Amino acid sequence: MRPDLSDQKSQRDVGPQEPIVTGEFGLIDWVRSRTRPGAQTALGIGDDCALLRVSPGAEVLATTDMLIEGRHFDFDDATPEQIGFKALAVNLSDIAAMAGIPRFALIALALPRGRAVELAQRVFAGLKPLAERFGVDLVGGDTNAWDGPLVISVTLLGETTAQGAVRRSGAKPGDLIVVTGPLGGSLLGRHLRPEPRVEEALALHKIAKLHAMIDLSDGLASDLAHILDESGSPGATLNADAIPIHADAETLASRDGRTPLDHALNDGEDFELCFTIHPDDAGLLIDQRPAHLTLSLIGTIDETPGLRLRVSGEVVPLAAQGFDHLKPDHS
Ligand code: ADP
Ligand code: MG
Repeated sequence: MRPDLSDQKSQRDVGPQEPIVTGEFGLIDWVRSRTRPGAQTALGIGDDCALLRVSPGAEVLATTDMLIEGRHFDFDDATPEQIGFKALAVNLSDIAAMAGIPRFALIALALPRGRAVELAQRVFAGLKPLAERFGVDLVGGDTNAWDGPLVISVTLLGETTAQGAVRRSGAKPGDLIVVTGPLGGSLLGRHLRPEPRVEEALALHKIAKLHAMIDLSDGLASDLAHILDESGSPGATLNADAIPIHADAETLASRDGRTPLDHALNDGEDFELCFTIHPDDAGLLIDQRPAHLTLSLIGTIDETPGLRLRVSGEVVPLAAQGFDHLKPDHS
């Protein structure tokens, strides 16, 4: 379909060598001229499909995530550049969660008529440095304008290493549960600048076999429950004292009366990794982990189904109450 961007002119980047960008094809040319795919891309933007190269023997990882203005963000709190950054970062985090290597991105945009070109250019400006940092080629997308708000959907493709992907389904009773960083309170601003743990996941999975892994997007309790569900329903017991709590969780708690621990367990969008390992591998992983990374051993996988919390010597059931977009009270 041909979106009507014909009345769209952008005042950004207008300089002596920089003609004003108009229309869909002008915009695609603008993106294309700023995109230099690497050797992994046989054919990038400009044809009906991109042609991609993956390493012999590798499996392809595919993931997609959509951000909707008015639903996931508002331009009162976030710039278009930040939304571009986040739209790619959350997908990078999904590739990290399987210990994959990110390779190719496609971007689909529904642009509000009237400021379509300017918004698209600013989204691209936020996304591009992150793509370059992670060696991701922008190989295609789709561009539309409408009378609704901004919608951006990024599809990211990656590949597995010789160690293979880490699935949610591999947790075994006796495993230790590990997280890669302090949790909670991301709403104070961290949710706009996630640090995808791509290199970290690859490094850790090379040191020792990670049994199961997920990135923390819905909240620790809820995301850990996903690992349990996919792993044939063993249980888990978390040690309240061992859960690393972010300073932002303390700040939020002082404002809203919830505890910092509650924030660490149930706030979403930390984008840290949660994984399980054989207990014999814990020492090696901690010794050889990337220097900047803190690993916290927060609990164990056990035979008894359900999620539990050990708090001041007592073990209590823990509800998984992370965000669910389709729950009636959210829609
Ligand atoms: P088609 O009609 O065959 O889908 P389009 O005119 O939509 O082709 O797109 C032309 C080329 O530009 C394709 O290679 C497509 O992947 C790419 N493209 C379109 N929109 C974007 C975008 N927002 N970002 C990157 N590439 C894009
Ligand atoms: Mg198209």
